[in-house]
Amino acid sequence: MRLRKTLARDVQIEGIGLHTGASVRMRLVGAPPGSGVVFVRADAGGAEIPATLEHVGPGAYATVLEQGGVTIGTVEHLMAALYALGVDDARVEVDGPEVPVLDGSALPFVRAIEEAGTVESDVPRLYITLVRPITVSPEDSEKRISIHPCREYRVTYAIEFPHADLGYQELTASLWRPGEFGEKLAPARTFTFEGEVEALRRAGLARGGSLENAVVFGSRGVLNPEGFRFPDEPVRHKMLDLTGDLALLGRPVRGHVVAYRAGHDLHSRLVRKILESRDCWHLAPWNGDVADAALPGRGEG
Ligand SMILES: [Zn+2]
Repeated sequence: MRLRKTLARDVQIEGIGLHTGASVRMRLVGAPPGSGVVFVRADAGGAEIPATLEHVGPGAYATVLEQGGVTIGTVEHLMAALYALGVDDARVEVDGPEVPVLDGSALPFVRAIEEAGTVESDVPRLYITLVRPITVSPEDSEKRISIHPCREYRVTYAIEFPHADLGYQELTASLWRPGEFGEKLAPARTFTFEGEVEALRRAGLARGGSLENAVVFGSRGVLNPEGFRFPDEPVRHKMLDLTGDLALLGRPVRGHVVAYRAGHDLHSRLVRKILESRDCWHLAPWNGDVADAALPGRGEG
């Protein structure tokens, strides 16, 4: 049986927000078992915003959470790191409207969580355990996403873009296995296209965006002088984003997600459908039918 975990020590991170371009200070703090991940806007009277699906607000380019008119944006890379490393309960104190974008990946968050260390509570962790598949397949598009019964949390993701440096990329990973998230996905940065950056800037977004925190595809190749961190860095980043979106389930999920050309919108629709499809899963503690290596948070803290 596995128990709910939180952070052993506080840890602080500073950086700029992707959309506002303003400097943000963030502190990750341990929290009592059962509280989940809660954002606290220190600059807005300590307003609390729980990181669950009910608090997802409008936001086409990054996940924005909202409660009582107070929002916190760009949470998905931090959420992915907490979820994949098995941190069930944490307070995230932020003095601005966005989580810092840092290098556009989840690696700085993984390092911060490792620095803080984790501690187990005496409360069992309950898993959303799939017993039937769930699919989201919009009729007007070939994009799709589904989740199937699986002993662990596994993802198969494929993307396809009509760009010479991108094309078709596909990868499968079992993300609770030691090192899988931290080594294979966490370093993968956000990617975008030169034309989209200009459109975002015109809309007053991505003011903090630069080659320091995104891979940018131009018409004559990748603009970043250092190139890629992995030859298939974009599909790895998609899997990272998916993990951050699934974190809004509020519980670890035992299932195999298969995604083709999906994105935040389809990820959110899957999360919503999972929560609605109560006959497709049960909520159960660790029952010994999965290798211990496949449980979240093994090997850290
Ligand atoms: Zn992302």
